[in-house]
Amino acid sequence: MLQRPRGTRDFLPDEMERRRAVEANLREKATRWGYREVCTPEFEELELFTIRSGAGIIGEMYVFEDKGGRKMALRPEITAPVLRMFVSEAKVLPKPLRWYYFADCFRYERPQKGRYRQFWQFGVELIGADTPRSDAEAILLADDLLRAAGIPCDLHVGHLAPMKHLLQGLELGAQAKAMAFLDKRDFDGLTPFLAGIGRDDLVPRLRDLAHARTLDELFAVTGEIPEKKRIGEIVEILDKNSLVYTLDFGIARGLDYYTGMVFEGFAPNLGAENQVLGGGAYRLAHLFGGDDVPSCGFAIGFDRLMVSLGEVKADRKVRVAICTTEEGRIRGFEVAKAFRDRGICAELDLLDRNLGAQMAHAAKAADFAVILGQREVATGTVTLKDLQSGEQKVTPLDTAVAEVAARVPR
Ligand code: ATP
Ligand code: MG
Repeated sequence: MLQRPRGTRDFLPDEMERRRAVEANLREKATRWGYREVCTPEFEELELFTIRSGAGIIGEMYVFEDKGGRKMALRPEITAPVLRMFVSEAKVLPKPLRWYYFADCFRYERPQKGRYRQFWQFGVELIGADTPRSDAEAILLADDLLRAAGIPCDLHVGHLAPMKHLLQGLELGAQAKAMAFLDKRDFDGLTPFLAGIGRDDLVPRLRDLAHARTLDELFAVTGEIPEKKRIGEIVEILDKNSLVYTLDFGIARGLDYYTGMVFEGFAPNLGAENQVLGGGAYRLAHLFGGDDVPSCGFAIGFDRLMVSLGEVKADRKVRVAICTTEEGRIRGFEVAKAFRDRGICAELDLLDRNLGAQMAHAAKAADFAVILGQREVATGTVTLKDLQSGEQKVTPLDTAVAEVAARVPR
């Protein structure tokens, strides 16, 4: 038997309905904030992703050569493609641009629960704004989206300036290494690394930085830094909006991308792969031939969100099963259409089962049975049976449709 590729999943209808219900909530919320959907290709030129991250990222990607000999990659993330699109299609549009996407990404990872080779992100890019308010909007929107999805999430908000300030004496490569350790909160790895380059003096300061939970604690570690005012203003907006979050200046998120405010969200009920969201302020457009436009955004890991939500049931659509004797089979199509035309799901028996077997199936799969026997066909009526209450009556088709329609939740 053929297997699906490692790290991918199949989704049966129940699961797809749950996913679509959550997705619809996210879209609806993002729309209310003025964000509009964009879509980019599943594959891009490899260079789009290596330009920023270097060749090292190739090991984590699905890379291939097309028939024209071009190096291509399945997208491992969607921010770079969106900014590429911005530069080529939309750079003259009035700013700021508020865009969102919901799409799949591909990474050659070691699969485990919450870590897949194909996974979906719901992401947002706010392009062309660089103020404490744009930083705050991204964070508040992320919180709103997670609430709309119904998952409790611990938001951690930080800024890269304090960490970069402490690391400024190191050469760039060493800074990147140190930040990679900090990103994983890996002080056991960081300590010997800094000792090895003669900078173990930084360890206690970086520890204090990662543990700072108030602005006073933060600036006690860093002293005066130019971003002090900006950080204070972001915090003021978040606090005035009663956001529940943790200040965390140990967030690193890698050197190659983010430039200022950074934030992450964690679902407390997930295990090792508990980060459901990551984002921050960044600059990318200039790498793709545009102006150096400041942007801010985040991506929610949709699959982790679904794992965190657990076994919630999506609202089920009202279903009508058309059950017919042999005489009613042809009329069944007409009757089903009348329900469908009113937006109601109606299914016909296609298996030549007798009426009893059809009714038994309907009792499991539907909310109403519409019975078409010899008598109904002869009189142009239907028998409508409410499968929950067991009540049934003979009525004209229109009345049956109206009665079921009245039961469809709005
Ligand atoms: P991690 O440290 O868990 O690998 P990341 O920093 O690589 O995450 P981002 O690139 O910021 O993740 O992607 C944003 C979100 O997408 C993550 O917070 C996570 O929820 C989700 N995500 C990332 N990689 C995967 C994956 N392989 N499978 C499922 N979800 C993923
Ligand atoms: Mg990763």
